[in-house]
Amino acid sequence: MTPPNPNPPAEAPAAPSNFIREIIRKDIESNKHGGRVQTRFPPEPNGYLHIGHAKSICLNFGLARDFGGKTNLRFDDTNPEKEEQEYVDSIIDNVHWLGFQEDRIFFASDYFEQIYQWALQLIRQGQAYVCDLSAEEVRRYRGTLTEAGKESPYRNRSLEENLDLFTRMRAGEFQDGTRTLRAKIDMASPNLNMRDPVMYRILHAEHHRTGNAWPIYPMYDYAHGQSDSIEQITHSICTLEFEDHRPLYDWFVEQLGIFHPQQIEFDRLNLTYTMLSKRKLLQLVTEKRVSGWDDPRMPTISGIRRRGYTPEAIRNFCGAIGVGKTNGIIELGLLEHFVREDLNKRAPRMMAVLKPLRVVIDNLADGVVEELDAVNNPEDASAGTRKVPFSNVLYIEQDDFKEEPPKGYYRLSPGKEVRLRWGFFITCQSVVKDADGNITEIHCTYDPLTRGGNAPDGRKVKSTIHWVSAAHAVDAEVRLYETLFAKENPSDVPEGGDVLDNLNPNSLQVLTGCKLEPSLALVKPFERVQFERLGYFCGDPDATSGKPVFNRTVALKDTWAKVEKREKGK
Ligand code: ATP
Ligand code: MG
Repeated sequence: MTPPNPNPPAEAPAAPSNFIREIIRKDIESNKHGGRVQTRFPPEPNGYLHIGHAKSICLNFGLARDFGGKTNLRFDDTNPEKEEQEYVDSIIDNVHWLGFQEDRIFFASDYFEQIYQWALQLIRQGQAYVCDLSAEEVRRYRGTLTEAGKESPYRNRSLEENLDLFTRMRAGEFQDGTRTLRAKIDMASPNLNMRDPVMYRILHAEHHRTGNAWPIYPMYDYAHGQSDSIEQITHSICTLEFEDHRPLYDWFVEQLGIFHPQQIEFDRLNLTYTMLSKRKLLQLVTEKRVSGWDDPRMPTISGIRRRGYTPEAIRNFCGAIGVGKTNGIIELGLLEHFVREDLNKRAPRMMAVLKPLRVVIDNLADGVVEELDAVNNPEDASAGTRKVPFSNVLYIEQDDFKEEPPKGYYRLSPGKEVRLRWGFFITCQSVVKDADGNITEIHCTYDPLTRGGNAPDGRKVKSTIHWVSAAHAVDAEVRLYETLFAKENPSDVPEGGDVLDNLNPNSLQVLTGCKLEPSLALVKPFERVQFERLGYFCGDPDATSGKPVFNRTVALKDTWAKVEKREKGK
């Protein structure tokens, strides 16, 4: 797919201002970077992107777009053991699918040599040293929030010795974990990140891009700011957990005397019933709890895309939640609300019967077919109309018939009349059962004068049900979903428990033998439709020729409306 360019505007009510926009506006006013705005989105290619990343993408690309700037896509690839080309490819694809176009693509690994040279500079400036403490010892020496740390016995090595050891670390002379390069800052700093943080570790691991060229790898805190600086990022936007790392970010660029981007932190997206951590999502994939990264139950961009969510809905959602300075949790219902709102405008309406009950129309002859006119989308006149075949054997939903209707049940039951969507009124005359008493089919008569859905004598029916003609129906598999996790906060686990204990055992329901109206056979994978009365659905790539597979994107009922009402009532 070719991504639209320039980056699309937020469809949400004109992007409301927020504290980041205010910072940028002031920077432009004061001509801080000559009015230039350069952001970046810096994923680590250690998994697929999720809806939380979408928030960061919409923010970074949205700011650049609105302030006439540019956004780089930068892969923060400093952990070779966890990173893969497959993830790189999926991330690029996801960003484009969301509707954004990066200015340039970079990799932190492109900067390994420059970043290494800068480490040598810090050693020469007396601001970095090679330390022989083990990882465990480094932890112990660090101290706690209430206790100052202890200086490493290697802290005062000579400049020459540090240069010698570090160049030999780089040359691959030492075993993994035997030494580190550390910044010499302040072991008594109230900020633990400033207590001589590790800059480099020894790791003889093959990197997905640099191969075996490097036996040492920079730590995130040392690589990130320098990468930002190389790219002349003006506003380096990240999530709140990096707030305590900002003094270190600033320290490195200050000591090196290089371009100083401004790090700004915002609140991470958390969603109810949803796990947003690549590590946990990877576990779901490797333990085969889901079919893959793009399982439609996954909160990954690839998953929700396959589920039928639209980029527009995701962008609108991200625009609506805005950014703030305190982490909270957003109701999943709000995201679904934006999905419904968008699909309502664009999804053609069709008929499908998920749990079929055979209906024989006694007063219509075998082989007679009536072609009925149906409107594709009442919200969109340009979507046109289609023909729906009607014949003497139909399917309706089992739920739409009750032999003994409870009070308030207005659908079909013996002696009762209902309207078939786009069709005729039918009246149930009799019920056929098998030896065990299960209903196998019902018999009805239809009123030919009610074609199109209205009776010339003005009589009314209380309900309209969907249906398909048996002879014309296409068999399909339909997958219905519930939330992947049963708990509102999936991370809420008792001592010794695992997040995956909170998985919802009913998250996937597979229905086979569903009956579709013929037009639905033409729907391609990833195309979205509404099944009348049942929800929005999306063609799944598992379809084989002649055997469509559909995913339910979201049901029609807007649970968000209820949530909103409840909130207002508080
Ligand atoms: P995860 O914990 O899921 O692996 P991460 O923060 O380690 O997330 P990165 O690949 O490092 O993932 O993230 C790239 C960018 O996306 C970072 O700037 C990060 O702050 C942002 N990001 C990640 N998760 C969220 C989230 N839930 N909400 C908003 N932004 C996020
Ligand atoms: Mg990370």
